[in-house]
Amino acid sequence: MAASDTPVLILNAPLVANRLGYPDLSGLDLLELFAFVHPARFCVPTPRGLAQALEIEQPAADEDVPAFLQTAAGALIGACEDPEWFEREGAWSALQSLERLRWPWAQVIKPHIARPEKAEKWLFATLPEWEERPERGSPRQVELPEEDVLQQLDHLTGEKAERREGQRTYAADTARIFAPRNKQEVPHFALAQAGTGIGKTLGYLAPASLWAAASGGTVWVSTFTKNLQRQLRSESRRAWPVKRPDGTPPVVVRKGRENYLCLLNLEDALQGGFAGRPAILAHLVARWAAFTRDGDMIGGDLPGWLGTLFRKRGIVALTDQRGECIYAGCPHYRKCFIERSGRDSAQADLVIANHALVMVNAARGRDHAQRPTRLIFDEGHHVFEAADSTFAATLSGQEAIELRRWITGPERKNRGRRRGLAARLADVASYDDAGGEAIEDACEAGAALPSEGWLQRLSEGDPLGPIEALLFAVRAATYARDESGGQEAGYGIETEASGLPGGVIEAAGSAAEALSAIRTPLVRLAGRLEAIIADPPDWLDGQGRARIEGARFSLQWRVDLIAAWEALLARLGGPADPEFVDWFAVDRSDAREFDVAIHRRWLDPMKPFSKVVLEPAHGVMLTSATLTDRIGVDLTGSAAGDPWEAALHRSGAAHIESQPLLSAAQSPFDYASRAEVLIVTDVKKGDLPGLAGAYARLIEASEGGVLGLFTAIRRMRAVHGRIADRLAREGLPIYAQHVDPIDTGTLVDIFRDDPHASLLGTDALRDGVDVPGRSLRCVVLEAVPWPRPDILHKARRAASESGSQYDDRIIRARLAQAFGRLIRNKDDHGHFVVLSSAFPSRLLSAFPDGTAIHRVTLDEALGRVRSGEIGEKPNGDHETAGKASAEPPDMFP
Ligand code: SF4
Repeated sequence: MAASDTPVLILNAPLVANRLGYPDLSGLDLLELFAFVHPARFCVPTPRGLAQALEIEQPAADEDVPAFLQTAAGALIGACEDPEWFEREGAWSALQSLERLRWPWAQVIKPHIARPEKAEKWLFATLPEWEERPERGSPRQVELPEEDVLQQLDHLTGEKAERREGQRTYAADTARIFAPRNKQEVPHFALAQAGTGIGKTLGYLAPASLWAAASGGTVWVSTFTKNLQRQLRSESRRAWPVKRPDGTPPVVVRKGRENYLCLLNLEDALQGGFAGRPAILAHLVARWAAFTRDGDMIGGDLPGWLGTLFRKRGIVALTDQRGECIYAGCPHYRKCFIERSGRDSAQADLVIANHALVMVNAARGRDHAQRPTRLIFDEGHHVFEAADSTFAATLSGQEAIELRRWITGPERKNRGRRRGLAARLADVASYDDAGGEAIEDACEAGAALPSEGWLQRLSEGDPLGPIEALLFAVRAATYARDESGGQEAGYGIETEASGLPGGVIEAAGSAAEALSAIRTPLVRLAGRLEAIIADPPDWLDGQGRARIEGARFSLQWRVDLIAAWEALLARLGGPADPEFVDWFAVDRSDAREFDVAIHRRWLDPMKPFSKVVLEPAHGVMLTSATLTDRIGVDLTGSAAGDPWEAALHRSGAAHIESQPLLSAAQSPFDYASRAEVLIVTDVKKGDLPGLAGAYARLIEASEGGVLGLFTAIRRMRAVHGRIADRLAREGLPIYAQHVDPIDTGTLVDIFRDDPHASLLGTDALRDGVDVPGRSLRCVVLEAVPWPRPDILHKARRAASESGSQYDDRIIRARLAQAFGRLIRNKDDHGHFVVLSSAFPSRLLSAFPDGTAIHRVTLDEALGRVRSGEIGEKPNGDHETAGKASAEPPDMFP
């Protein structure tokens, strides 16, 4: 009531609203003010985090927070009056617009921001332009002598740093992938297991930086998580300066275009495309755009929490999500962050990217000269799944409606600047009759694609057009054949795409014809664009040419997509292709349907990966702390298999001629004295109150600092709902993915920042959290992480010929990754708790050698966590991990 009467000071309104169960809470949110006063500055969105960012005293206890919020507001307002205020430029003009939009802070800070003497320039006039630079040319072929690599490593680690033998061997092994290639399509290929703490990053940056300097070429390092990208950017400073003397950056973080701010979308939003709260967001983003390092909105220097203060879609609508860029036809083309990042990476010594981008770039990159040839995949254990999604084909309602919008434009008005093909290529249509006809034909044929309201029509049995009719048949078949029990539980359901009813096959035939009718004019149009470029008319200047090339590229992408869908449909009803797994799915969340799809995956996605990524490369390495399998021992005490087998299979090595170099460096950490595993035997499966109680008591026993990992979101939410309030009252806050309206990166920042906080999450946290020190001192797993037996999993397990060993390997890998969160540096110590009595001994080898493992009751576990006891129990009643597990052999040929 107080909040609705008068605006009150709040920190993170959506979070407070969520906790209070009062969704409409609003007021004077200090985070919004922070985003205005200090755009592009890092701040953990908690009182403590805000105090650090503003360099003021932190509140000592919860009851001091209200007074602190006033102090913090005072500090932010005071900053606006400071003559040295770094981010003053543009603030006065932005405030005028924000006042018109009735931003609650506008009235408060207006008296404190002086009108500038000279009129401020409009953002789009102040951003710098990128410059066209000559191509870098091919790298020189160079050898890297081992002594030079080791010397470079000494230089990067610092003269006084202690020498780590594992790191030296690792750096020398990595250097081998940079040697000149001996045979076409056969790259130097290495798999490197690098135990936590060996100093992997500098281990590969040493040879990479040496090679880049000697050869004039670019090394790409690809990661799976944004967190590692951030870390790499900062570690790369030891080898490269921020800028070269000519002003270009030698190190560039490169992401998919959907991560960056699209200036044209922003301009549209500022000029009336957005209304109400989203319009306020657009102005705060415009403040940020003037100070950002690279325009990266997702995981870059735009605070992750900014979008959630408004509406998540707001941020997404400001990026270029659907490839609608009009390239040189855009008035901001010469300032565009996406174009800049592409040009910078062509000149860079080191490009930091992610697995999906590297693969997409290799598969359909615009510029062959820019394709990576020296590649290090860090977090290499994720390459398989990244390849799995990159080389997948999915014909779904959501994808098909996107294609329709791309061709014909939005169905309703007021959808921002989005335009169809006809509007984007109006000049081509008026100059070239055949091109104009092709556009018309494509738009006409595009009407066969699903349109707004398609999901509703499907559920009412009233599909419109051939593609909706197909999706209707797919949906009906999926429901008819489902035996998973998912229907009642509200989960998504799926069925194999085999033995299909005649209705589905007939509908697939008509849908394929409709798709072909769309593809044909698009191919014709691409041909016309090519002809225009080959024989340019007078009006085609450099910018026009670049725009047409851009259009050709995005056309090709759609033509390939439609062809893949047609191939997918052609095979329904025919004999099964052993190379692929095909299935139907109805995606649902809490019983609400949101998509219907036909999926196709490669049984072995490393096959296309090796063709597209490995063969064209000269040197590739996959590296990770959990690359090899921590395989157990058999009854005779010898290794029960080859620890490299799965890593080799999941690397694509089998599909190229190259014999991979295998390298292994063990972690220097003394796990036996720093960590122990507690398997709790008396929390019954399915006993939710018991599970919640166990989490609460473990969090109390360790006084926070717990990372709780769940295999099901629903259970995590239920546990959080039961314990969060009670623990918060004890000064032990709990944050949770899928519960708190905060992005995962920010949740981890909050967790890292507060040693009393705990964090609950699912898969994404299992190996995406790097929190060294006391903030993470206990990992609690709700159960053994069995793989979900979906159609794809079952097909791969059947193909692996090892049945349950296939599952065991996946579980061991997941356990090893989760355990890896606990000990991040040599001083870390803590407990790894699994709340499952059904923990087979054969999986214990997943933990590092020598780690003590105790099967205990919850009370005993609480005692050990509370006292911080680690290692053997006095009665000797324990098991130890991995004693006889096979050391990865030294397998350099
Ligand atoms: S060039 Fe494309 S991505 Fe860049 S600002 Fe313009 S429309 Fe957006």
